[in-house]
Amino acid sequence: MEKDDHHNKVESALKVNEGIEQPASLNPMLEKEMMRFRKNRPTVEAFLSGIRSGNRNLLGQAITLIESARPEDQVVAEDLINGCLPFSGKSIRIGITGVPGVGKSTFIETFGLYLISQGKKVAVLAIDPSSTRTKGSILGDKTRMEELSVHTDAFIRPSASSGTLGGVTRSTREALILCEAAGFDVILIETVGVGQSETAVSQLVDFFILLMLAGGGDELQGIKRGIMEMADLIVINKADGDNMLKANLAKREYENALHLFPPLANGWIPKTITASALKNTGIGETWKVVDEFINQTSANGFFQKNRHDQSKHILRETISHSLNNHFFKNESMTSQLHVMEQKVLADMINPYQAAQQLLEVYFGKF
Ligand code: GDP
Repeated sequence: MEKDDHHNKVESALKVNEGIEQPASLNPMLEKEMMRFRKNRPTVEAFLSGIRSGNRNLLGQAITLIESARPEDQVVAEDLINGCLPFSGKSIRIGITGVPGVGKSTFIETFGLYLISQGKKVAVLAIDPSSTRTKGSILGDKTRMEELSVHTDAFIRPSASSGTLGGVTRSTREALILCEAAGFDVILIETVGVGQSETAVSQLVDFFILLMLAGGGDELQGIKRGIMEMADLIVINKADGDNMLKANLAKREYENALHLFPPLANGWIPKTITASALKNTGIGETWKVVDEFINQTSANGFFQKNRHDQSKHILRETISHSLNNHFFKNESMTSQLHVMEQKVLADMINPYQAAQQLLEVYFGKF
């Protein structure tokens, strides 16, 4: 009898000694936790009305869903984005970049608080695809933006902690839509001015601010000419104390440099100002420049045109990426590609013809 009992017991790697209750196949605590989450997760309607009424907690949870790679989360995320889209588009989207240490977070804190004092609601998003490597160099440190982060009219969201630049850019754009639906008037998108992320950010924003230091030299500051060309406003930061003279000198130098760039189609001439977040100077002036830009480009139609161009760009780029992936992830195509590569290297066929032949095979197939 005892022997039979023993044989009837379910074999499990988690089996413990006789006389002690066998554990469930899943950690019961975890199972409970997951059940609670599924049960408590607000419905799409509850999310949408929460976001629309400016509930920052629900907004944060919704952005987590957007960033999630789980297919079931993505279904909900899509509903949320679509539900928010009709209420989006009314904010001013500003990109802020500069090398680490230039004073971005201090500037954003002061600038954000200034905007709030002007009756605006401010959201801060960050793009930092390197954050897994650097353990979250942007906004990772909780002491950053201390005052702004607790303000009821502010919402601060660190970058998704992992993912490709394309993925992080996408979730930032979608987070932006949600923030707009939640009634934020100004959205600041922070990025470290050393890599490709600026180009990605410039596709998301209306206005681009580059923070620079006096006396550092462009090379030293790691700022590429291309990034300078994207700037609608260069802010020479930390213009205080002993730095004042140097900052004013740098301002003139950058003004001269900007004049050498070809004029922008939207008619805007990029400006240079000096600022100090610590002394609270140049902050109101920054907003004045943004305001001037909005007035000018709204009047000549380029504000809206820029947004339309951005949407079209995203549509086309997404298609182009998918097609690219489809081709290069197809085993048959990649093996034919390798054969063709050898032929090209042996000068048996020129690369254009080779590409044409491969594409004919590909289009014949799909
Ligand atoms: P981030 O890495 O670009 O975000 O730079 P932070 O905002 O963290 O600032 C880097 C350092 O510069 C900190 O020690 C700040 O206190 C200092 N800092 C920031 N803004 C100013 C400023 O306007 N003037 C001066 N003198 N120091 C500043």
